[in-house]
Amino acid sequence: PTVHVDLGERSYEVLVETGLLARAGETIARAGLKGRAAIVSDETVAKYHAEALQASLQAVGFNPTLHLVPAGEASKSMSRAEEVCSSLAAAGHDRRSFVVALGGGVVGDLAGFVASVFYRGIPFVQVPTTIVAQVDSSVGGKTGVNLAEGKNLLGAFHQPKLVIVDPSVLATLPAREYHEGFAEVIKHAAIRDAAMLAEIAKLDPATRDVPADLIARNIAIKARIVEADEHETKGIRALLNFGHTIGHGIEAAVPYGEMLHGEAIGLGLRAALLLSEKHSGLSPSASKSILDLLAHFHLPLVLDPAITTGRVLHKLGRDKKFEAGKVRFVLLRDAGDAFVSDAVTTSDMEAAIEHLRMPR
Ligand code: NAD
Ligand code: ZN
Repeated sequence: PTVHVDLGERSYEVLVETGLLARAGETIARAGLKGRAAIVSDETVAKYHAEALQASLQAVGFNPTLHLVPAGEASKSMSRAEEVCSSLAAAGHDRRSFVVALGGGVVGDLAGFVASVFYRGIPFVQVPTTIVAQVDSSVGGKTGVNLAEGKNLLGAFHQPKLVIVDPSVLATLPAREYHEGFAEVIKHAAIRDAAMLAEIAKLDPATRDVPADLIARNIAIKARIVEADEHETKGIRALLNFGHTIGHGIEAAVPYGEMLHGEAIGLGLRAALLLSEKHSGLSPSASKSILDLLAHFHLPLVLDPAITTGRVLHKLGRDKKFEAGKVRFVLLRDAGDAFVSDAVTTSDMEAAIEHLRMPR
């Protein structure tokens, strides 16, 4: 299947098909890209998937070079971005080249950022290899790196020219990274498509079999929201932050590296569901069905007692969503029906975080 992302002259297609990685070269040529390709990847992903991508680009004359960073969030840094830019320049790339990001969200955000500034901006293609990257980070054009002061503080909107999603690359993804990605899959369904929740429930979390059309429909939810609010100025794109306000607070409160993003978002979703029951009439049964789904993918739903509520609140106070002290919190009226509310107070959030300590 194909998802069109309609953004005027920045429009592009997301192609979802098993085996597509091996045909990336011809697919990229068909999309109209020209010049030399600079593949940016991390050492882990490259070990499994770089050869197939290089060969397919080579076969159609894109003459690719490969630029690797270490795996992990620490590579989303200004110093790695500079290193990659230098490596591109040293390999003779210029404004006629394009970047291919092969990897998870870290590589996609870093390589997209590099593409946005190298020679003042060159085209780039996303080849996402994690669930998070396939359904979330590769679509929408947010690119960037972290600062010591906080995540994603440097960046640019730079839409890809093409997104190539091959579900078969998920076979090499470790189970924990596979499962955490479903926090975002479930988030998309919860805000816009209640029927999809039932289909996600039918997946076997012990396998890597996600049908291409389910991935495509999940991507389409994000695509429609990005189309309506490309630069996050109209409050619509904020719906994608469902579960992320308290989730980010928890993520930041936990010692670095102990909890994956999707695991923190699972807890954030539980808190947001509770607040939705309280403030916007979400039925307990709808709430329970979403919680069951998170549990189905082994996402933790009880907060570690070592993480104090005060610490989570302190961390979340720094979140950029707290503009001028005003909380804009995404709630559900029903499964598939999200909206941005200003009815949630800090003490409501405090109670919701406390609630996360109780078994569900
Ligand atoms: P990641 O890129 O760090 O990948 C997770 C781990 O899995 C890494 O160690 C990686 O090497 C490995 N890996 C990736 N694909 C693999 C594969 N197919 N086989 C084996 N190993 C593989 O993490 P992620 O969860 O994909 O992305 C998280 C990042 O995405 C964060 O920095 C977050 O801020 C960003 N993000 C961005 C957006 C956006 O809109 N731009 C949206 C959501 C998340
Ligand atoms: Zn997220």
